[in-house]
Amino acid sequence: MIPGAFAYHRPSSVKDAVGLLAQFGDDGRALAGGHSLIPMMKLRLATPANLVDLAGIAELKGIRADGNDVVIGAMTTQHDLMGSELLASKLPILRETSAQVADPQVRYVGTLGGNVANGDPGNDMPAVMICLGASYHVMGKNGERRLAARGFYQGAYFTALEPGDVLTAVRIPVPAAGHGYAYEKLKRKIGDYATAAAAVVLTMSGGKATSCSIGLTNVAETPLWAEEAAKILVGSTLDVATVKRAVAAAEAITAPATDARGPAAYRTKMAGVMLTRALAAAKSRARS
Ligand SMILES: Cc1cc2nc3c(=O)[nH]c(=O)nc-3n(C[C@H](O)[C@H](O)[C@H](O)COP(=O)(O)OP(=O)(O)OC[C@H]3O[C@@H](n4cnc5c(N)ncnc54)[C@H](O)[C@@H]3O)c2cc1C
Repeated sequence: MIPGAFAYHRPSSVKDAVGLLAQFGDDGRALAGGHSLIPMMKLRLATPANLVDLAGIAELKGIRADGNDVVIGAMTTQHDLMGSELLASKLPILRETSAQVADPQVRYVGTLGGNVANGDPGNDMPAVMICLGASYHVMGKNGERRLAARGFYQGAYFTALEPGDVLTAVRIPVPAAGHGYAYEKLKRKIGDYATAAAAVVLTMSGGKATSCSIGLTNVAETPLWAEEAAKILVGSTLDVATVKRAVAAAEAITAPATDARGPAAYRTKMAGVMLTRALAAAKSRARS
């Protein structure tokens, strides 16, 4: 329960944070809310010699509209997401998801940047970002680049981030007005990670789906984009038979671990149940 020894650094700019992280290489780690990293350090699953705390960097905070996108600073907390009027009107799925992350104590401190950068398949925000077609602004020793969420996750705790990188913001294209959305999560108790969860964003016109995107949480080593399942639904009324075909296609791409949350086959089925519920909720919320 006691972490290994480490030096603590608190830069006040992204430039300085990148400089420190680039200097430390594999011996340095960014610290955001610390609600994934500190437990890992206490278990000695992570033993960074240097922690670079991002909490003193004002430019990493805030939520703003930028044309048809919403840009959220990496150090914005889950609690901040829930209180944002901009998000409530443009991206209500973020409030719905944030409310299902952990518990209020964790949400007051845990950040969006930390949640998406962590690479834990149990984190809720990555599948939502994949569903929404978000991208991540990353500052590294060679300057800034933008990485699509859909290509970012490479394995459990492996992402496209390189040593020295700081994820500075999340950029999300705002779905069409009147879109339907839902994040449905099965968990064993309040504050638990997902046994399985599904994110859905869709648009409807004349009773038929004109677009659909689906993300799945904690049913593989990475969050999943269920592209084929979504394609099956476009053009349909989301009738029972078509939803069943789409759910089968989504279940087919899962590969969950058997763990304390249940056997793999059960978790795959629960992903299907969560997706069925999310599609029904999204359809009922969509305005043509
Ligand atoms: C009891 C408990 C229950 C939880 N339940 C859930 C849950 O249901 N769903 C869920 O999604 N999460 C859950 N979490 C995790 C929580 O949401 C974390 O806050 C989140 O995973 C990480 O965010 P953080 O800001 O705490 O990041 P940290 O723990 O500080 O960092 C996590 C990792 O990301 C890296 N990192 C952080 N920020 C950046 C950045 N800007 N640039 C580059 N790298 C960065 C760090 O170096 C570290 O490797 C739970 C945590 C606890 C303690």
